[in-house]
Amino acid sequence: MSNGSAINRRMFLAGSSAAIGSSMVLPGLAAAAPGAMASAPAYGPLPGVAKLNANENPYGPSPAALKAMDAAMRKGAYYVNASVTRLKAMIAERHGLTPDHILLSSGSSGGLTYLAQAVSGSGKILGPDLFWDTTARMGTRQQGEIKRLPKASDLAINLAAMEDAISDDVAMVQITNPNNPTGMVLAPDELTMFTKRASKKTLVLLDEAYNELTDDPEANSMVPLVKQGYNVVVARTFSKIYGLAGMRVGYLIAAPETIDMISQYALGDYSLNQAGVAAAVASYDDEPFLAYAKAKVVEARGLISDGLAANGLSALPSSTNFMFVDLGKRSAEDFRAAMAQRNVLIRGIYRDYTQWSRVSMGEIKDVRQYVAALPSALDAIPEVAV
Ligand code: PMP
Repeated sequence: MSNGSAINRRMFLAGSSAAIGSSMVLPGLAAAAPGAMASAPAYGPLPGVAKLNANENPYGPSPAALKAMDAAMRKGAYYVNASVTRLKAMIAERHGLTPDHILLSSGSSGGLTYLAQAVSGSGKILGPDLFWDTTARMGTRQQGEIKRLPKASDLAINLAAMEDAISDDVAMVQITNPNNPTGMVLAPDELTMFTKRASKKTLVLLDEAYNELTDDPEANSMVPLVKQGYNVVVARTFSKIYGLAGMRVGYLIAAPETIDMISQYALGDYSLNQAGVAAAVASYDDEPFLAYAKAKVVEARGLISDGLAANGLSALPSSTNFMFVDLGKRSAEDFRAAMAQRNVLIRGIYRDYTQWSRVSMGEIKDVRQYVAALPSALDAIPEVAV
C-alpha cells in the first residue's frame, strides 16, 4: 500500500467513525461497541445479535429476488431503464391505474420526503402526536412545520380530532396506517369516511408501509380513493413484507397531476438502482414468499406476547411486524440499554413516551433471544416514578 492510499484509508476511517457518532446513525450500528466496527460484517447484524430495531423482514430477499438481483447487478454499469417501466406497470395494473399514477423512489422515504418538501411551502403538515414523522421533519426543515394532535391516552389516532384540526393553514394531513411505532390499524370504514371528507379540504397522505402485514390489506388500503378521484396520496414500500429494506425501493400512488407536482422535487429514476428495481419486480407477485413472511411475523408476535405476559408486561394490539410494549414504571431507554447488553437491539424512547418500547419481529431465533433476555434485563433496571 502506498503512502497516499494509507492516508486516504486513515481519513476514510476517521470520517466513518465521525459519522457513527452522529445522529444520522442507522438503527443497529449505534449498538456496536467501540472498536467493533473493524470486526463488524459489512452487511446485516453481527452474528449472535438479535436486530429488532428497524422493522426489517430478515426472511427476504426472496429466492426470486436474489436471482433477479444477480442478473441486474451484472448490468450495473447502466442506469435503470426498462425495469422501471415494468415495475410501474405492474403496480398500476394491480390497482386498475395507469403508470403515471406511480412515483418510484429510493425507499418510500424518498417519495415521502419529496412530498413533504412539495407541500411545506403552502402550509403545515397535520399529523397525530405519534407517527412515523421522519420525512415530515425532513420536508419541513427549510420551511413549513408539523402540527400535531394532542397526545391520546389510548395512543390511537383520533380521526374526529384530526378532522377538527384541519385549519386553513394545513397543506396536508399525514396518517401512518398501521401506525409506527404503535402498530395499531384504524377501522377501515372510519378511515375511508374520514379520508373522503378530509381530502375535500386538503391533501391526505396515507403511509401504508405495513399494509400487507395487516389482516385485511385490501380493506385497509386507501388506494381505491385515488382511483375515485379524491385528493389522496398513498405511500408503499418494498422494505417491509418484501424483505428489501437495504435495496431501497418504495413508491407513491396519486393522481397524475399530484405525481407531477411532487416530481418537481424528486430525483426521478436517478434515485433508483438496478438491483433494487429488479428485486422489486421479482418479488411483487411472489405470493408464496409473502405468505411465508407474514406467517413468520404472526408467529413472532405470538411468542413476544407470551413472553411479555410471562413477565407481567403487555403490548398494544399490533397489525405489523413490530410491537409497542408498555413498560409500566420502567424507562424505555434503560430497557434498550439493558437489552443491548444482552445482544438484543430494540428502539429507545419515542418523543415523551418514555415508558414505551418498540420491538421488531425478526427471525424466530432472534425473537426467542428477546424473550429469554426479558427477565434479567427487567431485573437490571430500576422502576421510576411516573
Ligand atoms: N413509512 C413507515 C411507516 C416506516 O416505518 C418506514 C421505515 N421505518 C418508512 C415509511 C420508510 O421506509 P423505506 O424508506 O425503507 O421505504
